[in-house]
Amino acid sequence: NENKLQAIIGHCKEYGYIFQSSEIYDGLSAVYDYGQYGAELKRNIREYWWRSMTLMHDNIVGIDAAIFMHPTVWKASGHVDNFSDPMIDNKDSKKRYRVDHLIEGHAETLEKAAAEAMLAQMDQLLAANDLAGLKQLIYDNKIKCGVSGTVNWTDVRQFNLMFSTQLGSVAEDASEIYLRPETAQGIFVNFLNVQKTGRMKIPFGIAQTGKAFRNEIVARGFIFRMREFEQMEMQFFIKPGTQKEWYEYWKEARMKWHLALGIPQDHYRFHDHVKLAHYADAACDIEYDFPMGFKEVEGIHSRTDFDLTQHQQYSGKKLTYFDTDINQHYVPYVIETSIGLDRAVMMVLSEAYEEQDLSADGKEDSRVVLKLPAMLAPIKLAVLPLTKKDGLPDIARDLINECRPYFKCYYEEKDSIGKRYRRQDAIGTPFCITIDHQTKEDQTVTIRYRDSMTQERIPLASVRDLVMDKIKM
Ligand code: ATP
Repeated sequence: NENKLQAIIGHCKEYGYIFQSSEIYDGLSAVYDYGQYGAELKRNIREYWWRSMTLMHDNIVGIDAAIFMHPTVWKASGHVDNFSDPMIDNKDSKKRYRVDHLIEGHAETLEKAAAEAMLAQMDQLLAANDLAGLKQLIYDNKIKCGVSGTVNWTDVRQFNLMFSTQLGSVAEDASEIYLRPETAQGIFVNFLNVQKTGRMKIPFGIAQTGKAFRNEIVARGFIFRMREFEQMEMQFFIKPGTQKEWYEYWKEARMKWHLALGIPQDHYRFHDHVKLAHYADAACDIEYDFPMGFKEVEGIHSRTDFDLTQHQQYSGKKLTYFDTDINQHYVPYVIETSIGLDRAVMMVLSEAYEEQDLSADGKEDSRVVLKLPAMLAPIKLAVLPLTKKDGLPDIARDLINECRPYFKCYYEEKDSIGKRYRRQDAIGTPFCITIDHQTKEDQTVTIRYRDSMTQERIPLASVRDLVMDKIKM
């Protein structure tokens, strides 16, 4: 729901998670900056993904390819010709719409049968790339938008989502290149480099995380749809004919990764693609129940040998694998798992954000808490001396120095203990340690747990190992 989304956006700004890009210049649309806590959360999710791929599998290695690639890569991949959305402008409101979003929005105002008929017609026109037909559909249905009563539309045009720029300093020599719209192609063009130098045997995977750029026409939903975002992709190279079993394997493996975040099963669903992209023989999304409803967070695609075959053709280089088990050369098939890191951040934040009413005995009280999994929390441990005197800050500093090589700590001596706890709740810190006068006598401290708000007395010397145990990925 819209209220929850707005509350999360406000919370992210107030507590240093996510800011609008270039905010002092009134922002840049659909571009965001991660603040001090957001950057740590994002790093931890990336790390959790990277480990699950490269540490937990013998046969998956990670690479870090450049954002810029040879321009022919995007011809071979189909992005130059196909990576576009049809759009239309309203001449009166000067607003631009993605045609499918516009029509789908209108469908919501119609009776079920009429809506279905219109959407079926839209699908046909989109599949046939019939831009004039799409415009006619918009006129026939008297679809209005923006300024009320107007139907004054431009023609429908294809709008390529890739950003281009010039490589080279002298204008005449410069060639047009693109900012990559996905990280996958950096993996495909390095397939043989990695296979040979890593002595990889099929089946094996190559993983990569990194920035991707898309000039999204309608960018909305906070960090759900951005123009600059980060992807975590893994391409798994397999023997042709085994794609069904590996597709099922990765569907299950990726869902397990999600569930291990402690997110309940019923907040997820698989959505099978009915209309397959030109390169796929099976595809589905993992959808998460965002505040805006169920939406894609990750895609799992059986891409056949489309990508390697295309690159083989365009580059003129052989991209085959010699399978010693069957003494045969072949172009491997590929199963891809592709998750947006920013969407994963939004998923984790949506799941964690909770407004709690703590009123008791006629006293009003409430808190906002981020119930982040401890392994993902930006700060693992806050150390709070009860007072600024009597050597308590020194004990706190010593504890932080003991822990800081292992995990992120936070020191705070201002305000009452209650206020300090609430602040850590809002940041999502799973453990707070309070140092008081008793600590000086018996070397024990109070540990306070974020989710239950319960407290117990434990030995000072046990704090580091206790936290280490709880934050393991
Ligand atoms: P959508 O249908 O939402 O535009 P897509 O099907 O085009 O997404 P893919 O090309 O499959 O997305 O990209 C893989 C993943 O990258 C998506 O599941 C999503 O998590 C992420 N992603 C794609 N586009 C964006 C974006 N504009 N902003 C943030 N994340 C994105």
